[in-house]
Amino acid sequence: MSNCTICRRTTDTGLHACPRHATELRLWLAELPGQARLLSQFLTPTSAPATGRLGGTGRATAPIPVDLRVLTLLGPGHPDANHPDDDGTVPIRAFLGGWAGYIAYTHPAVTRDPHGTTHIHPCEQAWPREGETITGWCTWLNRYLPYALTQPWIGDLHRQLGDLNARILDLTHATPHTHDRAAPCPQCGTFDLVAIDGQADILCKTCGHQLDPQAYEQYAAAYLHSHQTATDTAA
Ligand SMILES: [Zn+2]
Ligand SMILES: [Zn+2]
Repeated sequence: MSNCTICRRTTDTGLHACPRHATELRLWLAELPGQARLLSQFLTPTSAPATGRLGGTGRATAPIPVDLRVLTLLGPGHPDANHPDDDGTVPIRAFLGGWAGYIAYTHPAVTRDPHGTTHIHPCEQAWPREGETITGWCTWLNRYLPYALTQPWIGDLHRQLGDLNARILDLTHATPHTHDRAAPCPQCGTFDLVAIDGQADILCKTCGHQLDPQAYEQYAAAYLHSHQTATDTAA
């Protein structure tokens, strides 16, 4: 037994995040690359401010050519969470890379030397297969999430990733790319199943249950059929 470090709910999985919060992390990591692409369109303000009319003061304020908050988020930089920029904005790529580096360092790697002796030591570095891009880091972090969920600092990752996500949504005004599914979750019964853009599986936001699309279609058809039959019988 352990407690979710985010909502304090007791979990019987031994993990430090409950299924709902583990799923939330997975969703944020899945959505971040798309959100970052969207964010890049906000780098340059779409409409330049009207040329300042020289009024009584005789001065016109020059427009800032780029949105500095977006520039910081998409730019390089250091993932120093203790000393973020004045307004708390950290570059996305550096933030993700910093967490990946931390996770890799705490993750035990098992190697065997030529004499057959097993050594356990921390991984030295995180190597994202898709390169050190936002997408590459998100894929890497998703792959290591099962390990990260066993660690008490998962609450810190959740809080910081949630803050970052909120900051980006605040700039793009985009809604997350999830689509509700009609049938309830076969595992927990809530109507919280969603499809996520760019991801094959259907996911339950409450319990984290995953279904491949084909399995969902079969299950949903059976569910709707039994529902329909029940309605017909009642009528
Ligand atoms: Zn929780
Ligand atoms: Zn569920």
